[in-house]
Amino acid sequence: MIVRKNMAELEKMRAAGLLVWKILENLKRMVAEGVSTYDLEVTAEKMMQDAGARPAFKGYKSPAAETKFPFVLCTSVNDEIVHGMPSHKRILKPGDIVSIDTGVQLSGYYGDSAVTVGIGEISPEAQRLMDVTRESLEMAIEKARAGNRLFDICGTVERHVTANGFSIVREFVGHGIGTQMHEEPQIPNYVDRRGENPRLKEGMVLAIEPMVNAGKPGARVKPDKWTAVTEDGRYSAHFEHTVAITANGPWVLTRP
Ligand code: MG
Ligand code: MG
Repeated sequence: MIVRKNMAELEKMRAAGLLVWKILENLKRMVAEGVSTYDLEVTAEKMMQDAGARPAFKGYKSPAAETKFPFVLCTSVNDEIVHGMPSHKRILKPGDIVSIDTGVQLSGYYGDSAVTVGIGEISPEAQRLMDVTRESLEMAIEKARAGNRLFDICGTVERHVTANGFSIVREFVGHGIGTQMHEEPQIPNYVDRRGENPRLKEGMVLAIEPMVNAGKPGARVKPDKWTAVTEDGRYSAHFEHTVAITANGPWVLTRP
């Protein structure tokens, strides 16, 4: 069942969303040569504490993993797709791209967003990969309207990505969000005909998150049971926003 939210609930989700936005804005400014992904983690955790928010990822146990995720951020560098772990050993260097994904729970409601940022001069292909991934998210957000169907979102991402010669990661998907970080529906970044295609309605809140590989779509999970990497070792990008469907169209809760 897809849980729909009333305006009072959306306002709470808005507060969570804006905190996530503020954290990511801060981290984007911090990202530079010589900064470690753990430096980003420390800053993000402090900001959550100061805001009285609970980190959504730290302590999270996925069905696949045997351990709880130990950090407030996922930092996924280069060939890492998602769920990379912050580390003081992972020092960012020119040419890297880092996806920063984070979520908080505030007053009972979740916000979830991700950005990918380049460090110094990056290759033209890496730049185009980030651009196309971000564009596919923006185009999908436009489809988050009452009366459309879920596949309108999925298909929009898929078409833009494949038309640009990149590939969609199939193992990980977006999701509904609210009092739980992961609610129904699942939102693949491609049209999955085996899945359901519900009509979108006012009050639904969706975390739309294209994960796009520069090369082949294949992904594998590293022995740490969390970090997903591309099978071919090429770069991957990830952008995400939490989006509410309202009478006035899509409301991106994770940016002003
Ligand atoms: Mg996320
Ligand atoms: Mg998410």
